[in-house]
Amino acid sequence: MRLDKVNRLQTLRCQAQEASRQVCKCMFSFTASGSDDTLTERNHMLIRDRNRLPLLFTHVIGSLPRPQVVRDLLARRQQLPAERFERLMDEMVIFAMRLQEQAGIDVISDGEWRRVQYVDEFLDRIGGFERARRYEHAGEVKYHRVVVRKLDVGAPVFAKDAQFLSKHTDRCTKFALPSPFLIALRYWHGDYSGTTYPTYQHFMDDLAIILAREAQALVAAGIDIVQIDDPALTYFCDRRLMAGELTHDERLRREWNVDEEFPAAVAAINRVVEGLDAEIHLHCCHSVYKRRSDVSGDYKPILPRLHNVKVDRVNLEFAYTQTGDISDLDYLPQHLALGMGVIDVRREEMQSVDEIEAIAAAGARILSPERIALNPDCGFAPGAGEPPTIDEAFEKLSRLAQAAARLRQRLALGAVHGPPTPA
Ligand SMILES: [Zn+2]
Repeated sequence: MRLDKVNRLQTLRCQAQEASRQVCKCMFSFTASGSDDTLTERNHMLIRDRNRLPLLFTHVIGSLPRPQVVRDLLARRQQLPAERFERLMDEMVIFAMRLQEQAGIDVISDGEWRRVQYVDEFLDRIGGFERARRYEHAGEVKYHRVVVRKLDVGAPVFAKDAQFLSKHTDRCTKFALPSPFLIALRYWHGDYSGTTYPTYQHFMDDLAIILAREAQALVAAGIDIVQIDDPALTYFCDRRLMAGELTHDERLRREWNVDEEFPAAVAAINRVVEGLDAEIHLHCCHSVYKRRSDVSGDYKPILPRLHNVKVDRVNLEFAYTQTGDISDLDYLPQHLALGMGVIDVRREEMQSVDEIEAIAAAGARILSPERIALNPDCGFAPGAGEPPTIDEAFEKLSRLAQAAARLRQRLALGAVHGPPTPA
């Protein structure tokens, strides 16, 4: 499977990059006789090289803070002629893209400014949901969406947004989709959804089909990295939540069964990303809401359980307290590269470039730097109107790019002692 993918990417690269034909021949001369370890290492190199990215490349997780003018435009979407809304939003999105380029980030997104929230927009566009379930989150009473009708398999809903992103930058691009497990867990409820989907597994099966088609449309639109957002997998890191203790998010008060639910979640993710000609990321954060996390706990309970996930890289949080611990990296399955969260997106306090670099360097002492990319812990604003400000995000992204450049220099000088090279 892995070798098939390597060979397919080799063909694509050689067709697309006439100028680097010689490099191509050199880099892809290995054969099926290589050991699994060699293959894994080569694949990490290939991913980076295919995308013309530097060692320790920098990428965003997805969302940028939505300034008031963007939130205002989103709120008036139904009142404006569709063409005018699109033209105005296109101009806003160009600004979001240029901001990331100006900060020096290697892989950019559209800031997710076309979405009110990273999951809700998808639900709005595919339809089948109603805001019916009352619940409490962080002391606030809300009415939550639940699926009430069978999902309609129409045209992909994000293809046009992806085409715009891909067409308007010469940087590598990333586009994120919510995971089937996250949506199934949060938006299926027996009282409202049971007649359409008897269990959340039935709902998740349908979601996997629809999301696979979305992912294929993103790649066809020219997106380089498809990311699956799954903060719900990280619920299994929270020892208190798993022990049945009370949580501030009422939706999480349920029975948990990691042995059954985790493999089913991974199987659904694998169905979404099967056969995609792109780098695939899986983002597992601790949820961000109004400068705090919904859950806490390092990644040790879940990393070994990702042994069969068919993605290239997992993007984890290491900057904010009570998220990842550097010793978690010993548990990262061999076939996975790491997107290392080195920028705290929750606290207003600004990390120094030295502090950011120190987190990344700690990772590079455990994993080969070839396996590491650097990123903020999470998106900067999963929901509309949440802090931080756009200026705060720009400064943090700029410092991320500076820290990555410094660490590359130190590695080149041999000033960071990495993991021992296998004999
Ligand atoms: Zn996140």
